[in-house]
Amino acid sequence: MRTTMTRTTTVLLLSALLVPAAAAQDSTQDVEDRDWAPLSNAMRDVDPDVREYQEHVIILSSPWMEGRLPGTRGAELAREYVESQFAARGLTPPAPGEEPGTLTYRQRFPLGSSSQMLNRQLSVGDMKFKQGADYEMTRLGSDADVSAPLAFVGYGISEGPDGYSDFSEDDDLSGKIAVIFRFEPMGEDGRSLWEDEGWTSRVNLRPKISGVGGLNPEGVILVNPPGADDPRATRLFSSGRQYLGDIPVFMMTPDAAEKMLQATGDTRSIQEWRDHADQGNGIVHLGDTEVTLKGESSVAVTQWGENIMAKVEGRGELEDEYIIIGAHLDHLGMGEFGSNEGPGKLHPGADDNASGVAALIMLAGSLQAAYDEAPEDMPLRDVILIAFDGEESGLNGSRYYVENPVQPLEDLVLMINFDMIGRIEGDRRLSISGTGTGVGMPEWARGHFEASDLVIVESERSSGGSDHTNFLRREIPILFAITPFPLHNDYHTSRDTVDLINYEGGMATSDLFHELAYSAAANPERFEYTSNRRARQRDRQPQRDNAMPRVKFGFRTAADEGEPGLRIVFIREDGAANESGIKVGDRLIGWNDVELEGRRQLIEQLRTHDPGDVVKIRLLRDGREETVDLTLEARD
Ligand SMILES: [Zn+2]
Repeated sequence: MRTTMTRTTTVLLLSALLVPAAAAQDSTQDVEDRDWAPLSNAMRDVDPDVREYQEHVIILSSPWMEGRLPGTRGAELAREYVESQFAARGLTPPAPGEEPGTLTYRQRFPLGSSSQMLNRQLSVGDMKFKQGADYEMTRLGSDADVSAPLAFVGYGISEGPDGYSDFSEDDDLSGKIAVIFRFEPMGEDGRSLWEDEGWTSRVNLRPKISGVGGLNPEGVILVNPPGADDPRATRLFSSGRQYLGDIPVFMMTPDAAEKMLQATGDTRSIQEWRDHADQGNGIVHLGDTEVTLKGESSVAVTQWGENIMAKVEGRGELEDEYIIIGAHLDHLGMGEFGSNEGPGKLHPGADDNASGVAALIMLAGSLQAAYDEAPEDMPLRDVILIAFDGEESGLNGSRYYVENPVQPLEDLVLMINFDMIGRIEGDRRLSISGTGTGVGMPEWARGHFEASDLVIVESERSSGGSDHTNFLRREIPILFAITPFPLHNDYHTSRDTVDLINYEGGMATSDLFHELAYSAAANPERFEYTSNRRARQRDRQPQRDNAMPRVKFGFRTAADEGEPGLRIVFIREDGAANESGIKVGDRLIGWNDVELEGRRQLIEQLRTHDPGDVVKIRLLRDGREETVDLTLEARD
């Protein structure tokens, strides 16, 4: 059902994409005059794999996919597309289905949630207080279902200046609900007795709530003290970090607290309770009248993400082990978040990361075919291909996977990740990092790098914040492929479009990783993980010419035909450039004594520096030349 639907969708998409171009030609040229040969020859010469790779990128980047933002119909279409491509190539579903014993291509995980408080109650006998107006149940504590007498514990402070104390650690509040004031002892003006301006750290909720919680009460009621000179004293809150795992914490207004306390038979006003507490007169137990606290918080998932995964089945003595090849499928939708140009326009994400997912689909086909053709008695590891969801919002799909692997993580021998492999330029450079995360991996990988017609910019340490990071944290060797630094200026904008993709380069990347993955799947030895830190040290020693710079400066540039230097097009808010006063639109024309003509020169300059170096940057701003000092930061 799902597959049929997607095939129809695909055909529609393709015709939508192809028809306008053909129509345009018809209207501008007579059929008689047309010279067919160049086009048909060109089409015939294109490698069929490159054409197929291109088709996947175009479909995944089309407006139908709505920028593949989780929660949209477009994201679901994209997932269906990848799923159907995996299925059509004969890969098996590796994830447990909802029905026991069934398998699916989908791994569902919570991507957004909201929590609600239900069935709240604070009452004494028939007297029921009003939630929101008189009290709140807070998230500082647990769910509540208790009835117990009250004990007044002042400000809930065990030690203050001049021997002040509301309780000692020997006090036991078992079977009682503790009532405490917010803040700390104050004078008639409602200001702290212990601090000239504001409050001391004793008003902090964490020590206060944990301290009273340590006396083992059934519950805690935090009361806003009357007359406090603090705007917060007029408000109730319910949110916050949970400090007590098994004791509920409620909050009350002074008026409501007075009524509650008087319902126990004690006639004191809330102001008198404050006077008692301001003097540090200790705990008061309030008879046997029980107060009831009830309420529970329920967490509802508001959005689900889904990793789409498929398995090329291994065999023989290696079949229990596996390799993962991943690429994130999600992107930024209409730029709702994470966009460098703000919301409003479609962010097609052709490079980020339709380019990587297209390689994943090509590898599903090529690896399945290679496994089918390999001798039957040849041991091979499983290969699980995963199109991760929720990467852009914080590597969520891959985090969920490492916490809920479909096969044990100790059997995972290598994780390969593609994120933006579509902008390989004329110099055919591709960056591959992480070769140093496994013993023997650099030597093994370099053999394959040399056989490829791509120019591999290798970094032994792992770099870049994408899905492989979650696997590296679990001490699994990784390889990460991305078009080399510097990042293009279309990154995370509506300009990341299909016309700018180098399809041939993307397909060459897929071919290279076919060789790497197949070899890693068949090699009886597995790479032992080595720490990133050690790999980083090795990277530092011999300075290779193609090494990634160790420093960054917090801006991105663009070259303009016929203009001097490089135009600053983006400045990172928390970066060094922003601090030094460099602005978007400035032209970068000099670096210390060097005249900058292009980006290549800038990278060469960067390679000569260490983090912390201060460089003189010459800028053209509004036609005038200015010089600023810029402190270089470490790349992470
Ligand atoms: Zn990405």
